[in-house]
Amino acid sequence: MSTETRSYEFQAEVQQVLRLVIHSLYSNKNIFLRELVSNASDACDKLRFEALAEPALYGDQPELRIDLSWDKDARTLTISDSGIGMSKQELIDNLGTIARSGTRQFLEALEDGKKADAQLIGQFGVGFYAAFIVADKVSVSSRRAGSGEAFTWESAGDGRFTLEPVDKPERGTTIVLHLKEGEDEFLDGWTLRSLVRTYSDHIGFPIRMPVEKDGKPGDEWETVNQAAALWTRPKSEISDDEYQAFYKHISHDFGDALSWTHNRVEGNQNYISLLYIPERAPFDFGMEREARKGLKLYIKRVFIMDAAEQMLPNYLRFVRGVIDSDDLPLNVSREILQNSRQVEKLKSALTRRVLDQLDRLAREEPEKFATFWNEFGAVLKEGLAEDSANTARIAKLLRFASTHAGERDTLVSLDDYIGRMKPGQETINYLTADGWNAARHSPQLEALKTHGVEVLLLHERIDEWMIGYLTEYEGKKLRNIAKGELGAAELGEGAPAAADQQEQVKAAEGLLEKLKTALGDRVSEVRVSQRLTDSPACLVLAEHDMALHMQRLLKAAGHEIPAGTPTLEINPKHGLLQRFDAETDDTRRQDIALLLFEQAQLAEGAQLDDPAAFVRRMNALLLG
Ligand code: ADP
Ligand code: MG
Repeated sequence: MSTETRSYEFQAEVQQVLRLVIHSLYSNKNIFLRELVSNASDACDKLRFEALAEPALYGDQPELRIDLSWDKDARTLTISDSGIGMSKQELIDNLGTIARSGTRQFLEALEDGKKADAQLIGQFGVGFYAAFIVADKVSVSSRRAGSGEAFTWESAGDGRFTLEPVDKPERGTTIVLHLKEGEDEFLDGWTLRSLVRTYSDHIGFPIRMPVEKDGKPGDEWETVNQAAALWTRPKSEISDDEYQAFYKHISHDFGDALSWTHNRVEGNQNYISLLYIPERAPFDFGMEREARKGLKLYIKRVFIMDAAEQMLPNYLRFVRGVIDSDDLPLNVSREILQNSRQVEKLKSALTRRVLDQLDRLAREEPEKFATFWNEFGAVLKEGLAEDSANTARIAKLLRFASTHAGERDTLVSLDDYIGRMKPGQETINYLTADGWNAARHSPQLEALKTHGVEVLLLHERIDEWMIGYLTEYEGKKLRNIAKGELGAAELGEGAPAAADQQEQVKAAEGLLEKLKTALGDRVSEVRVSQRLTDSPACLVLAEHDMALHMQRLLKAAGHEIPAGTPTLEINPKHGLLQRFDAETDDTRRQDIALLLFEQAQLAEGAQLDDPAAFVRRMNALLLG
């Protein structure tokens, strides 16, 4: 160590990541090269962008390229780029710490579960640290563009790294990997070339390798990749593997993309878009502290910035990709993007592209769509609130549990539902509840089930809020069947005729009055139910009341909410009501009335105000 060498400790998270990467990614060790080339390419992109405003950054080195070389005797592999480079502080920050939010919790969960498989750690995006899969010492020498000084960062991946000044005349970063015992396969020109072709062919800068002479790297260099930005090439010439490799480069995802759409648009606006739908969400999906990432904006092939927030609505934040515009000015700023009509139009075109792609997936590759829905369905639902211009498109993609499907995971679409509507039925019926079991066993469903009418079971937290934005689909009203009165619109032709209903009500008039008197202000009304066939009673809300389980949720969270008084609906044919009607003892009759009310509350998932009193009443009746 020279006197100028200083030693530093890695942030604890980095040590953990290193350990996990080395242990769980060995069988994917090739990826180290892809990650390092990807970083070199990013560095070239950054320089080209910064040089738009400050051309002097190029100095006397206008070329942007990535060089890959090896030395069999020294057992080293060297990746060198002429990109932006790193200052001393950037070396410390970028290679010694991890700033992503949620990192610690993610790593703890991984280590706890001892299930640090490649997929999971891959969701994290391993990046630079992948170098330590194959190297037992990594040395990074870097000179930032425009700066006179350069430093070497060096580590054996053991918790520490050192920094020392170095003489490096050329701008950019040079990474030397000292390969571990047994990793000699990477000291072979043919192997390296084929790795570059497999993983990095799409990189838009030349990747060069020395031409071999007598089995050793010679002095002459040749470009080994296509060196044309992938999205600028014709679709027909790009293989699925190339699309996937490019996806990994831009998304930092380890897994594959589920689907993509690649388009060149000419005319009013001129741009190319390549948009990917991932198979899996990254570990920190939805908790990014900084600006949303994932959609890279290029202008005339020059990377400008991550512009996901300007180019796509929030509910499509899972999309990854590239948009390359020929029309926007190179000196565009975030502020300009935010207020540009042109960008607004671009955004709605991209939004439609993604929604169309999802629709295509749903129709042509339902299994893939199911994967998408599991992973991102809840995010897409937000679109109903966020993007009223696309309500119909989004609604078409929604999937719900249903009384028709029987199983929790068998989901149906609104179009499926409409195809099964009964003659005379006008509404798309749904029920919101706190969980799938509460939904499917709700007494509210009894008559609908008897009539064979399907009901969508909305049992996720977001549903109650989301469905409020969807009042109609394909000309059919969406109808919460726990509210208001049910009739032919909901039940179809099987609903009892109006005359029969009136007769029922008339026959029960006395009963209804007695019950209302017994229950007083607890209920706003007691009426004959068209919902029930088996249960004695249930609670029903007015059309515009908030669902009872939501009221509870908000109350528990400390919100003041006006409590609407529910209606009690009864099934006069049920034995309990007949018993209530026939009871002559006042106390006992009061007990039965309260029990009816309380069991309706319980069935709906509520907690009783006075559970002990409920138990006392029930016991009295059981014994009596
Ligand atoms: P990511 O690429 O996802 O940001 P990495 O672990 O691959 O994560 O790299 C960490 C950071 O180190 C990069 O964001 C970049 O700032 C810096 N870096 C890595 N390699 C280079 C390089 N060749 N040139 C300049 N900066 C680099
Ligand atoms: Mg990287």
